[in-house]
Amino acid sequence: MRFGAGPGVYFCVLGGTMKPTMLLRVISCVLCVTSALAALGAAPAPGPEEAARFAREFREAEARRVLARADVLRRAEAAGVQRSQPFDIQHWDLALSVDPAAQSISGTVTMTFEPTQSLSLIRMRLHPRMDSSRARLDGSSIAGSREGANLLYRPSSPLQPGTTHSLAVTYSGHPVVSGSLGGGMMFASHAGVPSATTLSEPFDSYAWWPCVDDVTDKATMEMHLTVPAGMTGASNGTLTGVRTNADGTLTYDWREDYPLSNYLISANVTNYRSFSDLYHGLDGLTEMPIDYYVYPEGLSSASVTVSRVPDMIGFFARLVGEYPFLREKYGMVAFPWGGGMEHQTLTSMGDAYLGGSVRDFDGIYAHELAHMWWGDEVTCKTWNDIWLNEGFATYFEALWLAQKYGMDEGQIMDQYYDDGLYAGALKGSVYRKSGNRPFADTGAVYDKGAWVLHMLKPVVGEGPFYRALRAYRAAHALGNGTTADLRAAFEAEYGHPLDWFFDQWVYTPFRPIYHLAFTLGSDHVTVTVQQRQKHAVARRSQGKDTYYAWLPLWFHYTDGTEEIRAVWNDHRSQTYTLPTAKAVGSVTLDDGHWILKTVQ
Ligand SMILES: [Zn+2]
Repeated sequence: MRFGAGPGVYFCVLGGTMKPTMLLRVISCVLCVTSALAALGAAPAPGPEEAARFAREFREAEARRVLARADVLRRAEAAGVQRSQPFDIQHWDLALSVDPAAQSISGTVTMTFEPTQSLSLIRMRLHPRMDSSRARLDGSSIAGSREGANLLYRPSSPLQPGTTHSLAVTYSGHPVVSGSLGGGMMFASHAGVPSATTLSEPFDSYAWWPCVDDVTDKATMEMHLTVPAGMTGASNGTLTGVRTNADGTLTYDWREDYPLSNYLISANVTNYRSFSDLYHGLDGLTEMPIDYYVYPEGLSSASVTVSRVPDMIGFFARLVGEYPFLREKYGMVAFPWGGGMEHQTLTSMGDAYLGGSVRDFDGIYAHELAHMWWGDEVTCKTWNDIWLNEGFATYFEALWLAQKYGMDEGQIMDQYYDDGLYAGALKGSVYRKSGNRPFADTGAVYDKGAWVLHMLKPVVGEGPFYRALRAYRAAHALGNGTTADLRAAFEAEYGHPLDWFFDQWVYTPFRPIYHLAFTLGSDHVTVTVQQRQKHAVARRSQGKDTYYAWLPLWFHYTDGTEEIRAVWNDHRSQTYTLPTAKAVGSVTLDDGHWILKTVQ
């Protein structure tokens, strides 16, 4: 179902400055009285609500998953992970045999790498329950030792910078983290058929393959995935071949030539049925396959619900530039989990959402697709910066739903992406204080993170907003970005500091609480705005406990027209005397929902 787009609310950003120290642009807006809200209210409108409800269910499932995994995460940290090591990984080769019925994995993982300094110790991670039988360094056997989850290899003489080496680790075992809420390799069954699928974010790669768990060390990857007869092995990148082995097993050869972080590597094995669609690139020439791997019993439903995915790719590509992995593919693969995971070029999608029914799953699909730009091509540099993945994906999910249903951006943010509507949230800040628990506060990371982008747009203007996002993307493509990098990209477009904005919205928990009062004069209105929140603003030395913002005051005139009058607000209590040419009926605050707040 699709709403006809109404005339909409025009929310214009014009140039000018009113406060020299802040050098903000005035938000000076003309409101065209809209019928959009009324139209939405009158229409039989299950569409956006249903899509947003499923999107929220998905995020709630993700929050539950995170809680269930909290102990796993803590144990991973306790294992003594050393994320940053003095070498640069060039390539991963994963030659794996997976047997879903036996719930076993075995294989050899070969890491090609260059030391960045004299290297006498190579540290990899592998879950203690997985057996690592032998290893070869540059083709020669090397003895390893274990310290908890660490595999340690000491070359006979230090490896030197400027040289390239390969370390091949052979291992096997029965991955222990299992079940639909676990991480690592998940074993399950559907319609009586066993499956093995993976979910590694943030720290669970080691539960199914020997890895270096460093989100910043991206490398190309190939996977040679051997599966039982009758099953399909699906992974990242391009399928270069399928081999039938003497014992009847099949080996699926995959290549991912766009460097990726280790947590974005996935393996999926069951009796998948696949079908394909096409995305036509922005150049009008390039055709890219969109490949789906679904359970046979989900084939008919999935083929219905994915029909808008090509349009979604085009929508995002027009906003922030072409799909990042155009030479390969996009795709989705069903897995037994209550959410989605943006494995590079092949999102793992909960089987309820891909083949489970023909409901509208656009919110979830759009979220995971948006991660290809934000999360996969540009990956958070630290887990403290996880909002650069999740807040972005949530915002672009909202943009898709807003345009799909003809809703105003602020309207959809207010109705469906206010974190206060679920999970309590806003306990912490958008920027995570602890990188060890990146998903501990999904309200702040996902929803408030999306609000940060939504609020930045009117501050810098729509054109500069998308130019800044494209610049941030270009600067960190196939690499990693930080919150500071993003701020720098926006400041470059905006031309003025944005520390005040990031301090109050990204580094400060909670939100402002405003109280509005007004009195009517013959030719003016007197408006008093109070800030009633109790918390201080992080990192701010002056005006510590107040938010700085252009507040859109909505003047509702007695003749039925409306107008937005923006005022700069940065005190606990501020009174504005605003001239009016027409009789004012009432004054309200930010009816267009461009500021995350509570109004008392
Ligand atoms: Zn996400």
